[in-house]
Amino acid sequence: MNEAPSSLYVHIPFCREICAYCDFPKVIYDKQWVKPYLDSLFLEISSYGGSKYKTIYVGGGTPTSLEDGDFKTLLSFLSPLLEKGGEFSVEANPESLTREKASMMKEAGVNRVSIGMQTSSKRLLSLLGRKHAYEEVEKAVSVLREVGIENINVDWMYALPKESDEEFEEDAKAILALGVPHISAYSLILEEGTLFKSKGIEEEPEDRQAELYERILKILRGAGYRRYEVSNFAKIGHECAHNMVYWRDERYVGCGLGAAGYIANTRYKNTRNLKSYIEGNWLSEKEEVGPKDDMEYFLITNLRLEEGFALDAFQSRFGKDFLSVKKGYYEPLVGKGLLLIEGGRVKPSEKGMLLLDSILRNLI
Ligand code: SF4
Repeated sequence: MNEAPSSLYVHIPFCREICAYCDFPKVIYDKQWVKPYLDSLFLEISSYGGSKYKTIYVGGGTPTSLEDGDFKTLLSFLSPLLEKGGEFSVEANPESLTREKASMMKEAGVNRVSIGMQTSSKRLLSLLGRKHAYEEVEKAVSVLREVGIENINVDWMYALPKESDEEFEEDAKAILALGVPHISAYSLILEEGTLFKSKGIEEEPEDRQAELYERILKILRGAGYRRYEVSNFAKIGHECAHNMVYWRDERYVGCGLGAAGYIANTRYKNTRNLKSYIEGNWLSEKEEVGPKDDMEYFLITNLRLEEGFALDAFQSRFGKDFLSVKKGYYEPLVGKGLLLIEGGRVKPSEKGMLLLDSILRNLI
């Protein structure tokens, strides 16, 4: 599979505050670096040619941490790169999503916004190092609706340190009250090098994480959301097209500090060093993907989806029949009721979605 990438990820690394759990490529906002960064970013994006993309996703960092003029410059540069009818997403933190920024997004053709809410609890927000309050999330959602952006995601982080049942229930109520069509729910994972890790804060036990996940599943399904990926829930028709590219393991261009991309048979990662990036030394790692790794990665990502993958898609990508190549590996999983092969597709069962690691350990 060598087709040209149809998706573009753009990373804006600036944040006004640094959160205690954060492992993303980011730097504290400093105005003097913004223009040089954007100049280098635009050069990098242009180096991939002038083609248009079906999806553009601006993530961070905090894209909305930029001042209005810089934010507008960014959106004006990206807007002509979007195919007609494409999906244009921007991540926003509630406290910096102003009416002006919402209007600029609408004007530039942004049609999906993802808000980093995480939790509604004052105690937990302060523990995470987030500077917003739930009321600002409500305000951000209504400002987006006022300008005509209805396709909104809210991030929900659960299994936070010592999160009580009451706090969890409050979050569930608060998130449902927003009435947005997409919710991403992730448990807190503590990576090396984060402030939490250095303070010795531990992740909640696995059984508590699993218990909360199953409660989320029940709550969100009860409210009319469909789980289409392990951590992602949407009202019908509001699935994120950009993230589907990752989960289907398709090609995409990634630009900006620490961004990753997958083009032809090469995966690459950009530098996390701001100075190097600004100097135009964008790339830090490049790896040619062999057929074995390609197949493994395909299974890891596609089986996160409730719909799994089509046997035809596997055949046309690898020139091999899944049922022959993985004979002896998939049957026990089908026997245990973890994997389903039906309607020409391979997908995890309801039980399998909770035990993906075990499926993948057996399959790859
Ligand atoms: S706002 Fe996001 S990127 Fe910035 S420090 Fe917090 S978690 Fe990290």
